[in-house]
Amino acid sequence: MTVQTLTTHSDLLSALGVEPVNNGAYCGEWLSTNGPEVISIDPSTGNEIARVKTATSEDYERVVSVSVEAFHEWRTWPAPRRGEIVRLVADELRKHKDELGRLVTLEMGKILSEGLGEVQEMIDMADFSVGLSRQLYGLSMHSERAKHRMYEQWHPLGPVGIISAFNFPVAVWAWNAFVAAVCGDSNIWKPSEKTPLTAVAVTRIAGRVLKENSAPPIFNLLIGDRHQVGEPMTQDKRIPLISATGSTGMGRAVGQTVAQRIGRSLLELGGNNAIVVMDDADLDLTLRAVLFGAVGTAGQRCTSTRRLFLQKGIAAEMKESLISAYSSISIGDPMDPSILMGPLVDQRAVDDMMAALDTIREQGGRVVCGGHAKTDRDGFFVEPTLVEATPDMPITCDETFAPILYLFEFDTLDEAIERHNAVPQGLSSAIFTLNMRSAERFLSVAGSDCGIANVNIGTSGAEIGGAFGGEKETGGGREAGSDSWKAYMRRQTCTLNYGEELPLAQGVEFKV
Ligand code: NAD
Repeated sequence: MTVQTLTTHSDLLSALGVEPVNNGAYCGEWLSTNGPEVISIDPSTGNEIARVKTATSEDYERVVSVSVEAFHEWRTWPAPRRGEIVRLVADELRKHKDELGRLVTLEMGKILSEGLGEVQEMIDMADFSVGLSRQLYGLSMHSERAKHRMYEQWHPLGPVGIISAFNFPVAVWAWNAFVAAVCGDSNIWKPSEKTPLTAVAVTRIAGRVLKENSAPPIFNLLIGDRHQVGEPMTQDKRIPLISATGSTGMGRAVGQTVAQRIGRSLLELGGNNAIVVMDDADLDLTLRAVLFGAVGTAGQRCTSTRRLFLQKGIAAEMKESLISAYSSISIGDPMDPSILMGPLVDQRAVDDMMAALDTIREQGGRVVCGGHAKTDRDGFFVEPTLVEATPDMPITCDETFAPILYLFEFDTLDEAIERHNAVPQGLSSAIFTLNMRSAERFLSVAGSDCGIANVNIGTSGAEIGGAFGGEKETGGGREAGSDSWKAYMRRQTCTLNYGEELPLAQGVEFKV
């Protein structure tokens, strides 16, 4: 690393209040934690950026009990006033968008345009939540009994536990934290140990806004691994909802533990997303969407395109265009605006990709482009990789969190849909076609089985206005827009009798 970039990095960190060694527990104040340090690594160099001292069990207790107390006060604030606080957090995020976006890029390795986009997503979520704070509507029903009124209302739940993954180090927090906040919940964030600094920086901003506006400490933080923080949170009855984003293996463990105590979990897990390309597709549009979906974020999005189904008439042409486009993808420093693909998050991710490629070859897959780690520089860089695959290769049913795209050929749309749905995951899906019947067939009840289904748009890059999430082993949770807020509240059905009689429902008689 050059002296020039060191200076730039330390300026960036100090602009966001990130120290060389930070405390990893916050509940209205930074606790003087002394758990083992986690080291945040710049994946584009392998160099240390800064450290965080993880939370001890005493810190855990303190943060959870403060979050419970904060909830008791916060829930009494009118929802639009809660929205006003979220609006003020959004103002601060706007002021710090550039530094925060750079820190996301520095710590996670996504290219700067995506780092900035992720902070924009937080701001969009805050704006959405401000509007939502005036729209937490319940229905009213007509009672079957005379002089009775029936309606439902929504109350907050309590402290929400937010477990997040490394690949969206700040946006996933915002999806949960801002919606939960306007609903009247406090929250406790357990970020990925791979991206602790972005969590420290965001918590500093949100905590400052709460303090300046005499709001209770609702945005709290616990940094530590699954043993120190993750598992205690999932077992803790004081935390009625655990919103967990990460691998399917993690979700299976979290879901079981939370179910054991009859708590609620909201699971956002792995995907194995596919695009179906019909002979009549606009191939220029398709190519751009496939490249962003498969190569963007170095294949480290839950919505990354991992499987491409090509109808026979265009398969050869598309493959040729893809090989040519893949060979010209600029790989390197994600801060450099001319770069399209940054590094993977760590050496383990590189090793996992190389191991997956060995398995692919063993199972009969043919690597037609890429397939190697880049050893000509420091950092965790790999080549984006295209593989000619067959549906009987078991590995194509797994999510390998790296830029590997499987290419399949098909004859009919029915065949493509059947193969498209034949994986355990069900997050995002797309079809490229100019034929209205094919598009509607893909979106129909017998079409894509995913939580997200697009036409002439790739699998990644969802807008916040829709409910985000997937089916099957993706976990079934929905976050962000639409009516996802209902997961963060409890529904109460209320019936009022303003008459002099006590009629029973269903005409039951009980005369005493
Ligand atoms: P991961 O599963 O390794 O870790 C995610 C988080 O869970 C981390 O904070 C980790 O410490 C915690 N964790 C792990 N095991 C736990 C346990 N038993 N109890 C409690 N907490 C536990 O995932 P990752 O490598 O950080 O992220 C990549 C994965 O996340 C991919 O599978 C990707 O598809 C998925 N993801 C899904 C979505 C979505 O919305 N569906 C979004 C982003 C990422």
